[in-house]
Amino acid sequence: MTRFGQAAFDRAVHELADLPPPAQPEIAFAGRSNAGKSSAINAIAHRRKLAFTSKTPGRTQQIVMFRLPGGQYLVDLPGYGYAKVPDDLRRHWERTLGQYLATRGSLQGLALIMDARHPMTDLDRRMLDWFAPTGRPIHVLLTKADKLGRAEATRTLASVRRALAKWGKQCTAQLFSSTSKVGIDEAEGVLAGWLGIEPEPLRAATQPKKSPSGEARAGTRRPRAKGDKHEAEMP
Ligand code: GDP
Repeated sequence: MTRFGQAAFDRAVHELADLPPPAQPEIAFAGRSNAGKSSAINAIAHRRKLAFTSKTPGRTQQIVMFRLPGGQYLVDLPGYGYAKVPDDLRRHWERTLGQYLATRGSLQGLALIMDARHPMTDLDRRMLDWFAPTGRPIHVLLTKADKLGRAEATRTLASVRRALAKWGKQCTAQLFSSTSKVGIDEAEGVLAGWLGIEPEPLRAATQPKKSPSGEARAGTRRPRAKGDKHEAEMP
C-alpha cells in the first residue's frame, strides 16, 4: 500500500462552512479545469477512480475531501477557468477558493496542477497570489508531460521555476504525467513530507533523496508550522 493508497472519500461540500474543523493537517489540489487534477490525484493515490475525472469540465463545483488513515485530508478543489460556467457561479467559486486558500489554518501546502503545455495562466497566478502570502509551500505539477518532447519539457520546467520565484522560495515545480507515470514518486514524496507521513522503507524510489548539497529534499520533512520557511528547489 502506498502512502496515499488508503485515502477514502470523506465528504463533498459546497460551502466553506461545511468543511470539518481545521484540526487535522490537509493538502489541497487546485488547477484549471481539464489540467489533469483528478488524474493526478488518482495517480498519487495509485487508484483508478478515487477522484472522478471529468468528462464535462467545470461541472463539479464542490470541494471533495479524502481522508487518510492518520486523519489527514487530501482536498480536491473545484477546477477553475472553464469558460462555459455562468459568470456568477464562476465568481462565487473563485471567491470561495481564494477564501479557502488564504484562511484555512490546517492547510499545509498546495499542489497546483498545470497542463505543461499551457502553464502559469492568469488564474494560476491568482491562486499563487492567494496562497503564497501564507508562507506555506506550493508544489506545481506540470501534468501531461508525456505530450512534450524531452527538451521542451526541460525548458518548460526551467521557465516555470523561474516564474515561480516571484512568489517565493516555498514554490517548487516538477514534471508529471499520470499517463506515463512520470514524477509520481517525486510528487508523493513532497506531499507526504507536508503531512508528516514517513517515506515507505521498502520502495527504493521513495527513499529520502539528497540534494546536491547533501540535504534531504522537501518531500521528506516534517509538516511545517505556519511561517516556517521551505527549502526551495529552484534552479
Ligand atoms: P481535471 O479536470 O483537471 O480533473 O482533469 P482530468 O484528470 O479529468 O483530465 C482531463 C483530461 O486530460 C482527460 O481526458 C485525461 O485523460 C487527460 N489527462 C490527464 N492527465 C494526463 C496525462 O498525464 N497525460 C495525458 N496525455 N493526458 C492526461
